Amino acid sequence: MSTLPQERRVVTAIPGPKSQELQSRRTASVAAGVGSVMPVFAARADGGIVEDVDGNRFIDFGSGIAVTTVGASAEAVVRRASAQLADFTHTCFMVTPYEGYVEVAEQLAELTPGDHAKKSALFNSGAEAVENAVKIARAYTKRTAVVVFDHGYHGRTNLTMALTSKNMPYKQGFGPFAPEVYRVPVAYGYRWPTGAENAGAEASAQAIDQINKQIGAENVAAIIIEPVLGEGGFIEPAKGFLPAIRQFASDNGIVFVADEIQSGFCRTGQWFACEDEGIVPDLITTAKGIAGGLPLSAVTGRAEIMDAAHSGGLGGTYGGNPVACAGALGAIETMRELDLNAKAKRIEEVMKPRLTAMQEKFDIIGDVRGRGAMIAIELVKSGTKEPNPEATAQIAKACHAEGVLVLTTGTYGNVVRFLPPLVIGEELLTDGLDVLEAAFAAL
Ligand SMILES: *Cc1c(COP(=O)(O)O)cnc(C)c1O
Repeated sequence: MSTLPQERRVVTAIPGPKSQELQSRRTASVAAGVGSVMPVFAARADGGIVEDVDGNRFIDFGSGIAVTTVGASAEAVVRRASAQLADFTHTCFMVTPYEGYVEVAEQLAELTPGDHAKKSALFNSGAEAVENAVKIARAYTKRTAVVVFDHGYHGRTNLTMALTSKNMPYKQGFGPFAPEVYRVPVAYGYRWPTGAENAGAEASAQAIDQINKQIGAENVAAIIIEPVLGEGGFIEPAKGFLPAIRQFASDNGIVFVADEIQSGFCRTGQWFACEDEGIVPDLITTAKGIAGGLPLSAVTGRAEIMDAAHSGGLGGTYGGNPVACAGALGAIETMRELDLNAKAKRIEEVMKPRLTAMQEKFDIIGDVRGRGAMIAIELVKSGTKEPNPEATAQIAKACHAEGVLVLTTGTYGNVVRFLPPLVIGEELLTDGLDVLEAAFAAL
């Protein structure tokens, strides 16, 4: 917990001299395959601000990719994780268990949708959670096929690369990929050929038809979907799509997995984004926002499904690390105490009207969408729906130069996404939007 002033400040060229020096050391010692959005090196981060080593202060519209929902140095996270660090850093839950892991599982059972009996298993990363959800679903159903969706993103390990839809940069040159993975259409309203109003019904019918005709529903172990597709471009499946797919899974004994790694933990103004249409998943994967920046992930779901994997079949050396569990308990405490669902809704109230007004002024803004603090604009070429990744990159660069950290995303690289920490102050939010608007005006 730092005392970082909550104001934007640019005092050097971006990147500044100290960042440039670190960048040259980094280039010499860090693998080129690991990229960074900005070549500035962080020194401190708190609330809505990331400060770099040159003293520049950036308004944080990224939260380290939807991770620091409670801020990057939240009091309860720092307090609980520090206390745990002093007690012990690791014993391995598979050797001698500890209470924090059990407490996190109890919290997950309480917070995730549905009032059925639930159990959890904890891991380190989002990809690892998704892989384990597949293992569990296969053990439970004794089937092999896994269905995923166009524009879906599920991680960078071998199985999750196979589950991920976009080739560059995630998959190019890294195959062969895991078998028994099938991809079907999703209801991307803005780009649905017959219009957004038809997308829910038509896309779900197409997806179900493909599953029946090409795979056979009786061979499908799991259907995995992000209730708001993150890396695909903050696509909210058109209304009706998720309930239809959920129903199809129930009717056919298929495990329905909601990948809420990006959309979960108050991000969309609800504990989990699937609550928006009243969806109760069989399994839910969480990570990112769960532990205030410490590496932790989970699979949570129906007790009878979770218990299908044999004893010793799930785990990992660090899975559910005690310091990460303490961080998660601190993050959840903060979400409850500060009512971060309400904060996310307030962020939407501030951002959406501003972005919609910008859309009227700047015709390259084709779509404004998202919920809570998971908001995006999709950029197109004037008067068309043709993706405009060039303008997207220029807008992001202009924001960075003025001290606003924005991220881009999307299958076509043409989406600017906003994922501020939910504890960001309203003045910072407005200041960041002013910078964005000026960037569009200057383009
Ligand atoms: C980030 C992400 C993952 C992968 O999480 P890692 O911790 O990077 O492995 C999986 N699914 C979704 C929806 C994500 O946003």
